Amino acid sequence: MPLQVHQFPCLSDNYGFLVRDEATGQAACIDTPDADAILRELKALGWTLTHILNTHWHPDHAGGNAAIKTATGCRVIGPAEVERIGTAPDRVVDDGDVVMLGQTRFDVINTGGHTLGHITFHDAAHGAAFVGDTLFALGCGRLFEGTPQQMWTSLQKLTALPDATTVYCAHEYTASNARFALSVDKGPVLKARADAIFAAREKGEWTVPTSIGLEKATNPFLRAPLLRPDIADPAEAFGAVRAAKDGFKG
Ligand code: ZN
Ligand code: FE
Repeated sequence: MPLQVHQFPCLSDNYGFLVRDEATGQAACIDTPDADAILRELKALGWTLTHILNTHWHPDHAGGNAAIKTATGCRVIGPAEVERIGTAPDRVVDDGDVVMLGQTRFDVINTGGHTLGHITFHDAAHGAAFVGDTLFALGCGRLFEGTPQQMWTSLQKLTALPDATTVYCAHEYTASNARFALSVDKGPVLKARADAIFAAREKGEWTVPTSIGLEKATNPFLRAPLLRPDIADPAEAFGAVRAAKDGFKG
C-alpha cells in the first residue's frame, strides 16, 4: 500500500511534510517547523497525527514538537539531541533503528554533520528518504557541529541508496545553491538543470523533492572529488567545496 506524502511550504523557506500509511491511516509529520501550519494542514486533509519524526534538534525542525504533541497526543520519535529544544523524544532512535508507521517501515540512518546527531528516515519499499538538512537539491547542510569527514560519510550513505529514491529536503534553497554550483562546475548537465531551476523558481514552482540519481549527477558537494582533482582525499575535497560555498557571495 502506498505512503501518501503531503508537502507544503512554511516559515520563510522550509517545507513541511505529512505522511500517511494508507493501510492503517497512521500519519506522521517529518519535523515540526511550524506547529500552526502543520495542524492546519492536518485538519484540511482530515488526517489523525500519530507520530512526529524529527531529523535533528534545530528550532525549524523540532520547535513545534511541544505544541503539536499537546494538540494531538502524538508520539515523538527522534535523535537524543532533540532534548535540546526542551523535551526529550518519547523514543530515541539512531543508526540502524527501525520506525514503523502502521505498515510502513522507516530505516533510520545517522547522517550527522549539520548537527552531530542528525538522522534520515528511509522508506525503502516506497523509495523515499526524508533527509532534513543533510542533502539539498544541489546543496548540503552547513557544518554547524560536525566535521567534513563526518558529513562526507553521511552523504555517502545517501548516495548508496537507489538512484530512483525520492529525496525530501527540508528547505527550498535550490536557486541559490544553483548559483554556487555554476561557479564550481562548468559542465552542460549542471547548466541544463540550473536553467530549469531558475525557470521553475521564477514561476514559484517547488524544486523539492529531488532524487538520489539527479543529485549524484549534478550536486557539487557529492561531486566534490571530481571538481577538486587537486585534493586526493575525498572528504577533504568535500570540505573545500563546502568552505567555498560558506564564503560564496552569489
Ligand atoms: Zn537545521
Ligand atoms: Fe533547517
